[in-house]
Amino acid sequence: MIKTLNNIQIEISKGDIAVQPGLDAVVNAANSMLAPGGGVAGAIHSKAGPDLYKECKDLAPILPGEAVITKAFGLPNKYIIHCLGPVYGKDIPGDKFLAACYQNSINLADKHKLQSIGFPAISTGIFGYPPLEAIDVVFNTVLGVLPRIQHLKKIKFVLFSDEDFNLYKSKLAQISPG
Ligand code: ADP
Repeated sequence: MIKTLNNIQIEISKGDIAVQPGLDAVVNAANSMLAPGGGVAGAIHSKAGPDLYKECKDLAPILPGEAVITKAFGLPNKYIIHCLGPVYGKDIPGDKFLAACYQNSINLADKHKLQSIGFPAISTGIFGYPPLEAIDVVFNTVLGVLPRIQHLKKIKFVLFSDEDFNLYKSKLAQISPG
């Protein structure tokens, strides 16, 4: 499902964030040490290969809401943007930290003059953020930054579960092009 808002394509898809050819950057739902782990970080590091962690080590640790950029190594993209989402109930206010993740990742991509970026559902796995709560933050934040974007032409959400995929689709369906 694709909708164009402010001349930027918003795409909702189901799949693996580590296998997204055609996107300039994908976002890693990272841990503070930017280390390989489970979930998204595990998939990205194992596909990218060990050189990714070598580059990451110098950039770690990062704080909740912060985003840093590295090369993509074995991934079919130019860059990986690593972002630390909030741990639900611990990094408070969670909605501010989650919003900062999306905002900072988009700003970083735009600063590097990238045309496309892919996001997983940050914080909704191991970090425990309820998907329904997260999706409101995601859409409010992304729709809010669209008018300030200079280079990005596509923002793609890559969801892992049918449940998240359907939630994102119905959310996007409710939004009318302004
Ligand atoms: P966090 O630690 O920020 O919660 P996780 O990686 O545990 O991050 O999970 C974030 C979301 O990404 C969850 O909804 C999870 O199901 C989903 N997910 C896990 N692996 C992948 C993958 N390879 N591609 C896209 N989404 C994934």
